[in-house]
Order: sequence, then structure tokens, then C-alpha cells
Amino acid sequence: MGFLKIDRIHHSYFTKSSATTALSNISLEIEKGEFISFLGPSGCGKTTLLSIIAGLLKPTEGNVTLENQPIEKTNNQIGYMLQQDYLFPWKTIEENILLGLKLNNQLTAKKRRETLTLLEQMGLEGVEKQYPAQLSGGMRQRVALVRTLATEPKLLMLDEPFSALDYQTKLRLEDLVSNTLKSFGKTAILVTHDIGEAIAMSDRIYLFSPSPGQIYQTFTIPDELRTLTPFHTRNHEKYPEIFQKIWKELEQVETEQ
Ligand code: ADP
Ligand code: MG
Repeated sequence: MGFLKIDRIHHSYFTKSSATTALSNISLEIEKGEFISFLGPSGCGKTTLLSIIAGLLKPTEGNVTLENQPIEKTNNQIGYMLQQDYLFPWKTIEENILLGLKLNNQLTAKKRRETLTLLEQMGLEGVEKQYPAQLSGGMRQRVALVRTLATEPKLLMLDEPFSALDYQTKLRLEDLVSNTLKSFGKTAILVTHDIGEAIAMSDRIYLFSPSPGQIYQTFTIPDELRTLTPFHTRNHEKYPEIFQKIWKELEQVETEQ
């Protein structure tokens, strides 16, 4: 039990003249294979919490464990997907997706084949020798997903990965990412300010309130929605009711600021 455990995290940023408390008393547990969302207005500490989980930032207080190990030691087992794809423009798509494996000394002929197959499964056959600038935003995000999955991270963190895309591309990518992560049994945390996206993709949603960032409420998505693809979840008869409920809470959070 408790694949990822976040235990009483507090975090303050200190500058010469001020201190900002970004997170206060955050505790939660995520099981293997779960898809979780952190939802909340900008500035409520979502990115700070992801950085702490990834071991990039040491919290002022509290601790995080992945499979009962302190996060510092499991650092390379976490994959990140961001709003911007951060592909290297001077490298080909193939070089980009194999880079993580190369850096980790894991690049075998078998891993290379598997990674190129995954690229094909993402509908990107034939782009291997092209450069990122030759691809659309949605294609680049699919490449970024392949690159993230190539090193087989235990935990994936998706920080608003669809927010720079047009609506149709975003809906298509939600399904692709969700199906892919499910088929690999990956555990994932999505950061978003989009209620619909959180409902469509998640097993559970943590709604954050700001100043300082805290967990305001937790929503468990009913089984009949969780088992559907994001696109079908959005069309389910129960979807509007859950949307309204979270919308009201989010409004409450925003007016309390
Ligand atoms: P979110 O991702 O939810 O928008 P962040 O985690 O980026 O929120 O920020 C939470 C709070 O911490 C905000 O008040 C922000 O201004 C502050 N903050 C974030 N990063 C830093 C930093 N490097 N130094 C000082 N304050 C920061
Ligand atoms: Mg953020």
C-alpha cells in the first residue's frame, strides 16, 4: 500500500526580503497504476509540489517516499512531461527520443527498437529523421511522451501538458496519453486548471486552494467514468453533475483568496 506517500509537506520560498509559503500540510497517498490530478488556480503550489515529488526541490518540512524509499534516491525513476515539449531543436526526433536512454547508459538495440515502435504506435511513423520544427505542436507533445516513457519511469508527472494545444488536438491527446499509460500500468500525476480534463483523465482529483497551497477537497471519480476513455467520460450522463460540483468548489476557492 502507498506506492507514493507524501507526508506533511510544508514549503516556503525565501528571498532576501520576503518569505512565501507555497505549500502547507500536504499529505496524500497514491497507489500503483492510479491516475491523479492536482487541480487549482494558478499560484496554489501545484508545480512546487511536483518539483518536491521529483526530488528537484527539498521541502522545508515533511517527506516523500516512492515504494518506501526517500525520493532523493529514486530520482531517475520519475518522468516529466511539460506544457512546452523541450525537444532539442538541433537533434532529430529519433535522437531526441533516445537521449534519455543514452544518458542513462540504457541504450541497447532492443530498447531502441521498442522506443521506435512506441513512436509508431503514437501515429508518428516516418518522422524519425525530421527535426522538431517540422512537426505540429500536438505531434511534438507525442514525441515528448515517447521520450518520457522510453526510460520506463515508475511515476509520470504531467504539468499542464495539453494547455498550449488547440481543443481538438487536446481531446485526441488526452485519449492517447490515457490509453498509453493504462496499457503500461503507469502511475501518473497530472497538473491542470481544466476541470473537464481532470474529470476525464483521473481516478481521483485533489483540489488545491492558494495562499498557502493546501488540499481543499478530494473528489473520487465514480467507477463507471474511470473505466471509460477521456472522450467518452466527457459524454457520459454523470459528467455534467461532477463538473458542476467541482466548478462550485473551485469558485469558492477563488473567491476566498
Ligand atoms: P502553481 O503551479 O499552482 O501555479 P507554483 O508552485 O508555481 O504554483 O507557485 C506557488 C507559490 O510559490 C506562488 O505564490 C509563487 O509565486 C511562489 N513561487 C513559486 N516559485 C517560486 C520561487 N522560485 N521563488 C519564490 N516564490 C516562488
Ligand atoms: Mg504551475
